[in-house]
Amino acid sequence: MQDKRIESIFKKIIYESSDIVFLTEDTHPYSIVYANKSFEEQVGAELIDRSLVGLGLDINSYITKEKLTFAYNKKYYSFEVELPRDSGSSYFLFYRGKKITAQRLPGEEDADKLLTSKLTNLVERVPGCLYQLTMDSVGKLKFSFLSKGIQSILGLSLEDEFQTLDISAFVSIVHPEDLPHVVMTSVESARKVEIWQCQFRVRSGSGSLQYRWVMSTARPEVLETGETKWHGYLTDISMNNEFQTKLEDARLAAEKANQVKSDFLSMISHELRTPLNAISGSVYTLFVEDPSEIQKSAINTINFAVDNLLVMINDLLDFQKIEAGKLTIEYRSTKLKDVIEKVLNGLSFHARDTGNKLELHLSDGLDILVKADKTRLSQVMNNLITNALKFTNQGTVDVRVENVGQTKNKVRVNFSVTDSGIGIAPEHKQKIFNDFDQVRPTFNSKYGGTGLGLSITKKLLTLMGGTISLESEVGKGSRFYFELEFDRVQEMPVDSTANASSSHVIEELHLLMAEDNEVNSLVLGKIIKKWGYTYHRVLNGKEAVEAARTGKYDCILMDIQMPVMDGFDAALEIKKFSGTPIIALTAAAKLEILERIDECDFDGFVAKPIDAVELFNQIRAAVEGNV
Ligand code: ADP
Repeated sequence: MQDKRIESIFKKIIYESSDIVFLTEDTHPYSIVYANKSFEEQVGAELIDRSLVGLGLDINSYITKEKLTFAYNKKYYSFEVELPRDSGSSYFLFYRGKKITAQRLPGEEDADKLLTSKLTNLVERVPGCLYQLTMDSVGKLKFSFLSKGIQSILGLSLEDEFQTLDISAFVSIVHPEDLPHVVMTSVESARKVEIWQCQFRVRSGSGSLQYRWVMSTARPEVLETGETKWHGYLTDISMNNEFQTKLEDARLAAEKANQVKSDFLSMISHELRTPLNAISGSVYTLFVEDPSEIQKSAINTINFAVDNLLVMINDLLDFQKIEAGKLTIEYRSTKLKDVIEKVLNGLSFHARDTGNKLELHLSDGLDILVKADKTRLSQVMNNLITNALKFTNQGTVDVRVENVGQTKNKVRVNFSVTDSGIGIAPEHKQKIFNDFDQVRPTFNSKYGGTGLGLSITKKLLTLMGGTISLESEVGKGSRFYFELEFDRVQEMPVDSTANASSSHVIEELHLLMAEDNEVNSLVLGKIIKKWGYTYHRVLNGKEAVEAARTGKYDCILMDIQMPVMDGFDAALEIKKFSGTPIIALTAAAKLEILERIDECDFDGFVAKPIDAVELFNQIRAAVEGNV
């Protein structure tokens, strides 16, 4: 009885004790079998039925200790622990429990220290300087933190001015030319609370006359006290800037080299065109003067060589124009069928010469008017077919053009050129579309070639909205193909009477030829006479203006580079009082000249050396347009 009373008194003492006391089982999950009032009040009454595992404790690491500290619900407790000492007991007793004020458990404190040391290490070792800069409510600036990196960047030690003085010490070493920018941008950053970033020069160490480039970036934060605090870093970018300067120099040098290349191409094509002009014109006149068979063969050879030279010059010119971004696609009403047939006709002689069969397969639905750049499309087809003929011996070149779908307004057309020639190895398939790339440059010695044809073809097609593809097998042949979409043009009924009258008009034409060069005028004169036309020659632009004012001409052929007054000024002058069509003739390939021809409202333009057929067509078109 006495014992029971004593036991009940002890129980009460324990229950009422200000220390936290509780008992758990000694096996997983260490269920709490008893907890006193302090436990209920301080740890939580609802936990009584729970366990140590439920409290989130890693039992194995704690239970072997005689003292235990643990956190629960962001509160910290320390206990002494009684382990079961004899086999009869199967409980852990936690007693002398106290809520403690520690913010961290001992393990956590260690982690904290580790983190701090890691951060310190990081702050000290990163290249550059980390800082905090504070601006108080009256606008006074002061560094509140500067990392050691400041020593290497500005050659200053932390013990001196920076830590103790305000910003004026720093300001004093900023390059005077950069200071306004530094101040303005930082004021702006504070006003808008936006990241501040600035590049400026600072003196390399106090007293030094040398400056180095630094860059700083900082994020501002407005504090409750009204202060603004920037958290940022400062880094030396002198090397970067040196690199940038070198890069800029290299860019300028490359640009200059490119300009030199461009000028060289212009100059060389100009220089080549002038003698070619004479050769080509003379060949034409020889051709129509009834040559013997032997002469004919020689003339053909010369003609062929001249044509090849012309192709090369034109390639160079196009290349230059595309490079300068000045080549535009000019969409005009065109009949695709006519364009392709014309290209094939033009190459039939070449096909015969190379012993190849050139076949054309046109699908239905190509006899329609579309908006296309006839010149550039012909050029693409011409390039592909010429290559096919060039690299095929006694074989077939098959040209297919197929309408693969059309709506009322659009038509999609597939073009392909297939040959049974030498083929292209897989490793060369991409390369051949590069500028100046040829698989075997020496192979071309027979026909010439600049290695530009396919690169120009690819670029032209890109401008027209197409992509060139290639399938090829060495020894079997190649197939180049692409697809283009064209806008359709509604066809107008043809006025046959208008055609008849205009063809009548061109029967006898009287032309004005403005040309200062003797050889050129001789060649041109012979060509004009062969057509049965008459002409009057003048020697410069001024004479051309006078002649146009006093005489009557159906068309004016105007050389561009002439003494006294050039072709541009003469054309502008004549256009003021006369509607006579004017065709520009020039050997100059310079882009500026081609552009000015566009500007001066010429009715046509023929490049020298003059292609007689081209000139004839241009005169006809200009005169017909003028009727
Ligand atoms: P090039 O002016 O030399 O013909 P291209 O750019 O037109 O320059 O062609 C580049 C190279 O691609 C040619 O030199 C040739 O090696 C190869 N090539 C082009 N077309 C064919 C083809 N149909 N068959 C075989 N090789 C070709």
